[in-house]
Amino acid sequence: MREREVGWVSPPMASERPESRASEGGEEEDDYGYGLFPERRPSEGKRERSSVYKTLFPKHRECQAMLTIALTANPYAKVLLDAMKNSGCTVYRDRHFSCEDCDGCVGGGFDSSTSQIVLCQNNIHRQGHMNRVVIHELIHAFDHCRAQVDWFHNVRHLACSEIRAANLSGDCSLLNELGRFKFGLKQHQQTCVRDRAIRSILAVRKISRESAEKAVDEVFDSCFNDQEPFGRVPYSKSDAKRVYQDFQNRDRYYTNL
Ligand SMILES: [Zn+2]
Repeated sequence: MREREVGWVSPPMASERPESRASEGGEEEDDYGYGLFPERRPSEGKRERSSVYKTLFPKHRECQAMLTIALTANPYAKVLLDAMKNSGCTVYRDRHFSCEDCDGCVGGGFDSSTSQIVLCQNNIHRQGHMNRVVIHELIHAFDHCRAQVDWFHNVRHLACSEIRAANLSGDCSLLNELGRFKFGLKQHQQTCVRDRAIRSILAVRKISRESAEKAVDEVFDSCFNDQEPFGRVPYSKSDAKRVYQDFQNRDRYYTNL
């Protein structure tokens, strides 16, 4: 891990990756997920895109535009940005977000060496997807800001953050309507969160599926129930607005103390 630049950095964690990664693992050297982000593989060095590139490519512009909407209009993103700021880890749009091409179907990642959230411009095509990726990665950033997270060596730390990111980002909400008839809302959410956390770990660590499952199961209850900085898991749009209002009121309450 290179020197931390702003105090809340961590290795890249891919989100929204489908179940394609082989998990026999153990023999290959772990690249900590950098293989998914060709523009920032350590061996190739970090390439800074020119401003010409950025204006010429429509998907890059679309990604930037969707990012702006996510950061200014999404109540969960706003809660997370405020919470980060209150914790001394202010997130700057130009400094901490980067739209890039990624490998596979990965939606985004959190790169420790540059303190940046990567948004995969070739894989994010809808605002709803952008919102989920931004929130998912901001949860990782928030966790890194508030806790001494050992992303590299303690897979349970990674598992905990992936559980929280899947639970709180809305990654599992698309299927809620279906799931609640089948298992009840809460049971569906737990099953979906567990599955996604395991997949996310396997996307960035060369460990066996069994090891990933074990890590997730060991920390599941406490991390699933840890809903900071939201007061609760947001399940709907109106819920999201209330979560933001609650957060602002809570803040006001603290400043009055
Ligand atoms: Zn993640």
